Amino acid sequence: MTLIDGKAISSKVLGECRTEIDSLKASGITPGLAVVIVGDDPASQAYVGSKVRTCRDLGMHSQHIALPAATSQDDLLAVIHSLNADPAIHGILVQSPPPPHINEAEIVRTIRPDKDVDGFHPENVAKLTMESPDAFVPCTPLGCQRLLLEYQIPTAGARVVVIGRSMIVGKPLALLLMARGPGGDATVTIAHSRTRDLPAVCREADILIAAIGRPRFVTPEFIRPGAVVIDVGINRIPDATAKNGYRITGDVDFEAVAPLCSAITPVPGGVGPMTIAMLIGNTLKATRQQHGLPPIRP
Ligand code: NAD
Repeated sequence: MTLIDGKAISSKVLGECRTEIDSLKASGITPGLAVVIVGDDPASQAYVGSKVRTCRDLGMHSQHIALPAATSQDDLLAVIHSLNADPAIHGILVQSPPPPHINEAEIVRTIRPDKDVDGFHPENVAKLTMESPDAFVPCTPLGCQRLLLEYQIPTAGARVVVIGRSMIVGKPLALLLMARGPGGDATVTIAHSRTRDLPAVCREADILIAAIGRPRFVTPEFIRPGAVVIDVGINRIPDATAKNGYRITGDVDFEAVAPLCSAITPVPGGVGPMTIAMLIGNTLKATRQQHGLPPIRP
């Protein structure tokens, strides 16, 4: 059984990004990412903090805009408009979820599509569907695909089952894996909360991807022996022995499932670290597009 090391692959990808950033800077272009957070959700703040730190470590320009929970829709829209117009900012990300009074769909639609490094704008969703190479693809699905590519896990003709149909993970991941080309050409099934006999559907999979948000939901009865399992889940479960009172677990019952698999991602240390690496990659893609430079990664 191969343990898929997302931390190692993420470091490798970030190393490639560093080289690209250095060469862009040598030609007078400093890639810039703005990260906007509204409110004080601790998990969101931790994600935002690590995104901004990674930008700084890589020598990018970054702007961390932390707004109070009571920020109005109009004030948030005004922030987005000014970032859209700022030539030093090539990528804009508004950390999800915002407080409930914010209309997130309107925020997403207001971000300039060519600065939408999260890939949530309808224009980018359409481009992904149309297999357009200039699409910005959501970072977590891109990270899952990159892990499969790096570990040379064949997807062409493979049966893939994705559990979860969200716009952030399940749907874009299914589109990516069924698209033509490397890391694609799979036969994809999306399963969800209304799927009948979910374990039987999952047992069809050569590659099973769990993006559910339920700790240790995937058990051995979901697994065809020899399958590859990618666990996207990040769940906090209470743990009295942990310093902060909780620990992170995935959607897969790792201990029970791992012995059946040919390869599996751990949580933490699997898909999680890939998301940020793909965000930096998307920001570099946006930078190149905005400066009329040809793309250098697929
Ligand atoms: P979501 O809540 O938007 O979607 C969950 C999906 O799971 C839904 O489509 C639902 O139909 C499906 N589902 C729920 N209960 C089910 C059941 N009993 N049987 C079958 N399907 C069921 O969540 P999301 O934003 O897609 O995130 C999913 C998980 O991935 C979460 O744990 C989240 O924290 C994690 N996540 C991780 C990263 C990362 O960087 N690794 C990024 C985004 C999300």
